[in-house]
Formats: sequence, C-alpha cells, structure tokens
Amino acid sequence: MQPASKLERRVVHAAEQALERHSHVSPLDVLIGLGWAPPGLVTDWKQGRAPHLEAIAAVPADRLTDALEIFRRWVAGRGLRPSEVEYLAATRDRHPLRFTASNDPERERAYRTHWMPADLPESQRERLTAQQSKPPDLVVMQAVRPFTCTGCGQTEAELLTMESDGPICLVCADLDHLIFLPAGDAALTRRAKKASRLSAVVVRFNRSRKRHERQGLLVEQAAIEQAEQECLSDEDARARRRDRDRERREAADETFQQRLAEQITAMYPGCPPTRAAAISEHTGTRGSGRVGRSAAGRALDPDAVRRAVVASVRHEDTPYDELLMAGVPRDEARTQIRDDIDRVLELWQRRRP
Ligand SMILES: [Zn+2]
Repeated sequence: MQPASKLERRVVHAAEQALERHSHVSPLDVLIGLGWAPPGLVTDWKQGRAPHLEAIAAVPADRLTDALEIFRRWVAGRGLRPSEVEYLAATRDRHPLRFTASNDPERERAYRTHWMPADLPESQRERLTAQQSKPPDLVVMQAVRPFTCTGCGQTEAELLTMESDGPICLVCADLDHLIFLPAGDAALTRRAKKASRLSAVVVRFNRSRKRHERQGLLVEQAAIEQAEQECLSDEDARARRRDRDRERREAADETFQQRLAEQITAMYPGCPPTRAAAISEHTGTRGSGRVGRSAAGRALDPDAVRRAVVASVRHEDTPYDELLMAGVPRDEARTQIRDDIDRVLELWQRRRP
C-alpha cells in the first residue's frame, strides 16, 4: 500500500472531524475544513453573490477534484450511507446553488450528497436530511452604491435582492410590503420573525471588514405590532414604536392618500374602508418606489390603482407569502394564487350589501 499523501491525511482529518461533529459529512465540509472554501466567501455564494462554489475556492478546480476523489475513496472505505440534499440560494428565487463552472450533473450531484453512518437510526437520518434541505432565510442587501433594477429599471432603490439576472428592487421582488426592523433587540426580532409569514434578513457590506453584516430584519407590519405587544412592558419598545410612527407620519402624503382611497372605493365598492385606507397609505408613501408613487399612480390611472389593490390582496388574502417562504419560485406562486385574487376582486367589485 502506498503511504498516504499529505493531502490525503488532511482530507481524511477534515472528513472525520465533520462526521464526529455533525453526524454527517459533505464535500463542502471537507473543503471548509481544508481552508479551501473560506466561510465568508461561502456565505457570499449561498446568498447569490458568486456564480458557483469553484469561483470562490482558494485553489484551482483540479485541486478540488483531487480532494473530492480522496473523499470518495474514504467514504467507500468507511461504509457511509448517502443522502442527497437540496442546496438553495438565500435569494428571492431560491435557485439551486451551483458548485462547478462546468455544471456537470454527476459532479453537481456528488457535491449535493451528504454521508451519514450506516447504523444511524432511520428517524434521525430523516430529521438530519430534512434539516439540511431546509430553505435558507431570504437575504436582502442594502445597496452600497446606486444600482439599476433588472426588473423595472429604476435606480432609486436602497434595498436589493440578487436573482440570476442580477439585482432587483424589492417592489419587483414582491417584498416591498415588509417593514424594516433594525437589529438590536433580540427578543423583539425573534418574536417578529416568528409572527411574520414572510421575512428576510437585511445585510450590508462592510468595506473595511470585507464582509456582509446583519442590519436587521424585514417583516410584516402586523408581525412587528404583535411582537411589540408581547414586549410592551419594556420602555424601549414603546420608544421605538413612537419613532416608527413619527417616521411614517413624515413620509405620508395625506392629500394624495385620501384621493387614492376614494378611487379604490369607487372602483371596488366592496373593499372594506379600512383596507382601502391601508392600501393607499402603503402605496402612497414617499420614497417607497411603489406603484402609488409612479406617474400613472399619481394620476390615479385605473390600471395603476388595480395593481396596488392586487398587490395587497396577494399578500393579505392568499397563501402567496407562505408559498414564497417555503421556497416556491415567484412565477409558480403567482400562478397558484391567480384564482384566489380574481375571487376577491370580483367580490370587491360588487357593491356592499
Ligand atoms: Zn424593480
């Protein structure tokens, strides 16, 4: 038998360590253990900022291939059992993550295959596989410099999320109904995230540290309110609510919002007045980039008004947000809920009894 090479010893060491620590081991664990896939860059890749894993690796692709070949032999000798795991990007479209530049199906599958001890009880295997395939939290970035949305072409947006074609604004990503909750209060954040059907982590690139840092969370307005209720005994929570209410009042364009609400009621007499008010407050907020702030929206163009109402119905009256949170792609989710939207609109178009 040939003596083990230096690389062989390092690969086996990394694999044994991962297996001991997590009861399973993946090719990515080994590359991280070797120091060839730096964790910060792995995060970039998982959040859609690198085309594939090879692009962020510290060594050329053929070195990765050597290491994975050693890993394959070690797995066979160890008698481990395979289980294929899903790797999804933490982006709005939740696209499958790519590992190789060549995108060769066999090598991609090898990367997705995790290995567990053969004697692990079935229930524990299932739990581990489900855990590893869970869709990641959505991630939204604060723009460090102005960008052009690849969806609508606007250049004013401050938040973006990456899709395969490039950055898109939150209006195009259907995330613009969410409210920013700055980091800092762990209890409030945890409760708001739990109460929100759809949420996203907000990060910002820190140039000097060369990494993305967490700034807070985007959650539903109702989720913040519920979380605040739960925390309300504490004085800070009350102060923060006052700040947020003041910001909302400053951004409000009340005359326009009033006219928009009247137009919604004229077009949809069955829409409850509180909903019409909420829709116009939401879409008419200054600096929001929402349909209520576009030229057509300002002119109360029926098409623009309809779009604002549809957006609200989509988030409030259909399972759309739950579908997105579960990783269903946006187009597919929209197809699934189309009938639900039509039903609500039809109801609202009738005059209320
Ligand atoms: Zn856009």
